[in-house]
Amino acid sequence: MHCYSTRGTAPPVDFRTALLQGLAPDGGLYLAQELPHFTPAVLASWRGLAFPDLAAVLSRHLIGNEFPAPVLDALVRDALNFPVPLRRLDERLWLLELFCGPTLAFKDFGARFLARVFGHLLAGSGRHATILVATSGDTGSAVAQGFAGVPAVRVVVLYPAGKVSAFQEAQMATLGGNVTAVRVPGTFDDCQRLVKGAFLDPALARLRLSSANSINIGRLLPQSFYYVASYLAALDEPRIEAGEPVVFSVPSGNLGNLTAGVMAARMGVAVDHFIAATNGNDVLPEYLDTGEYRPRPSMATMSNAMDVGDPSNFARLLALCGGTRAGVRAAVRGERVSEADTRSAIRRAYAQCGVVLDPHTAVAYEAACRHLGGQRPHRDIIVLATAHPAKFADAIREELGFEPELPEDERDWQSRPLLAVDLGDATQETFRALLDSLPD
Ligand SMILES: *Cc1c(COP(=O)(O)O)cnc(C)c1O
Repeated sequence: MHCYSTRGTAPPVDFRTALLQGLAPDGGLYLAQELPHFTPAVLASWRGLAFPDLAAVLSRHLIGNEFPAPVLDALVRDALNFPVPLRRLDERLWLLELFCGPTLAFKDFGARFLARVFGHLLAGSGRHATILVATSGDTGSAVAQGFAGVPAVRVVVLYPAGKVSAFQEAQMATLGGNVTAVRVPGTFDDCQRLVKGAFLDPALARLRLSSANSINIGRLLPQSFYYVASYLAALDEPRIEAGEPVVFSVPSGNLGNLTAGVMAARMGVAVDHFIAATNGNDVLPEYLDTGEYRPRPSMATMSNAMDVGDPSNFARLLALCGGTRAGVRAAVRGERVSEADTRSAIRRAYAQCGVVLDPHTAVAYEAACRHLGGQRPHRDIIVLATAHPAKFADAIREELGFEPELPEDERDWQSRPLLAVDLGDATQETFRALLDSLPD
């Protein structure tokens, strides 16, 4: 798979190089130069495959020329080893549950795949690396879990003391091994400042610092797989014929999920259109309405992983859609959902469909409900459920009066010992000393 930069001046590279580099040298984002196109018959021949098997087949088609088949197979199956249930909510409404991985959010797909491929490429070259991540909660836990146990890589996750939930802290700070969780006395901005400072620090060069940035093509690619999987699962409904288009409603922030969906559509998944569902941080819906892209500081909402004021994947989405607003509008409709509507969507989904939605998923559900009545001809809508509701217990208790239960094997989280290292103060010197003291 050849990857080009959205800025267009860096030379095209293969997938492995794009994954190791993260950002292209010209500051652009890597995108696949050509994607395979699967006919309805080929797609239909994969119906009934378990998700890890489908992911392995798709990986072979996309990047099989860069890895020996058994190696790629093992990496993919190990990374994407959890189910992706498609659940029926209503006559034409479906819920795709993307929260069955270890951190109970869809970021597991990208983070686990990237971590394993990254570790494999490093180990093959006899090198090692240290991944630095600053987190306000979700990304750090997915990256830490993703890299846990991966050889040749050490992960250092920085989070603000007292500002992540106890469950998020347990997800990052109870792993041990090659994962070091650092509790910073300060804010998320302090964590980010320390990480940026470390990257610029020549005294730390021997650690080969690297980032598992959310714009890495290695995080995007595996996210296209569940679009294929859910489309094939929907075909089990006799009413839906092979080749008949569906609609996807995507809770959107940095637009990685949406961009991966557009890639899946280019590969042959029959998509009528995507709904980019946002909270009040509505840069994309506004762009679709007005043609103006106006990045701005984000504002805080209850769907906080979507609080993004300058979506990092916008350039990719635009490039994939031919570089024009008309191109993006042909594929994507925007829908902004207020806090009040998010709350009432949580209540309505429970009352009408008996399903508990986290606030991010509720935004996409609300957007889908608005579209259901209005579209002619009627299409089936698949709502992407990006987080397990138990991760947002407070919001659910406020709306529904009870707390959703965690999945069985997560319920012991309070009994796992916390292995966090406390940073004495949030200065660069203290952080450097800590990094220096880590074993190679
Ligand atoms: C990150 C995240 C999103 C937003 O996804 P993007 O790819 O950034 O658009 C939505 N929901 C949850 C739970 C997330 O963690």
